[in-house]
Amino acid sequence: MTESREKTAVPDTIPAGPKWTGPDDPAPGSEYFAQPSYSRREIATHVAGAVLNAGACVAVAVELVRAGGTPSSRIPSAVAGLLAGGYAADLASGVLHWAFDTWFDENTPGVRRVVLIVREHHIYPQRIFNHGLAQDVGIMSWFGLAGVAPSLLTARSRGMVADLTRVAGLSFSVLLTLSLEFHKIGHRTESPRAIAALQHAGILLSVKHHMKHHAREHDSHYCLVNGVGDRTLGRLGLFRLLERAVRASSGIDPRTDDRLWRRRFGRWVSGS
Ligand SMILES: [Zn+2]
Ligand SMILES: [Zn+2]
Repeated sequence: MTESREKTAVPDTIPAGPKWTGPDDPAPGSEYFAQPSYSRREIATHVAGAVLNAGACVAVAVELVRAGGTPSSRIPSAVAGLLAGGYAADLASGVLHWAFDTWFDENTPGVRRVVLIVREHHIYPQRIFNHGLAQDVGIMSWFGLAGVAPSLLTARSRGMVADLTRVAGLSFSVLLTLSLEFHKIGHRTESPRAIAALQHAGILLSVKHHMKHHAREHDSHYCLVNGVGDRTLGRLGLFRLLERAVRASSGIDPRTDDRLWRRRFGRWVSGS
């Protein structure tokens, strides 16, 4: 079936169910978010991204082990690399989330599936649990690969800078590739003790932090690993700055399509 044949005309008004309905509960209007079935090409693209990303991560990890050195000389660069990679992954997850929340619509070529997922997520947030690990990793692997690939250039290098670069690239890739799983943690009312402890410590995304994104206009708290990016560059106005830049070059208002979907379902829209 072609993508165009799968599109369904969307009415101006859709009777909605409760916003926080469970993933398996009735969700009136959810049929309008039905996604096209995966094509062979999409599956091949996802598998290729996952294999290349995993291969690059393993190669960088092997090089880290082979680099040798004493713990006292390597721990500082490992800690710095983890912090830098973790921060960059959190921020990248936020920028990607912001981009798909703010721009595009379901008819934009190449992004229909992701747009439908993020629009539905603002109408019925808990239906995010209907998307599995393989799908999430398939979507995110190429972005993770973009972060770890430069670390391969340090293959023959030794020393603190090479160590730091490898740990940063590796942690960036792993955390960004799994960021949609961390997002789900931010939606769980109950988590295992170890996960809850990491959330409490601010290492993983807390429910309290992420629920601020799901309030009213959905225009803040975009970051999905732990939210440190929201508390720093986000708070300093990064996302509004990016919106002004895109609006100035495209003439399109931010969140036009997301507001349209929320209005159809009778959800809160600013200025209405
Ligand atoms: Zn969102
Ligand atoms: Zn969410």
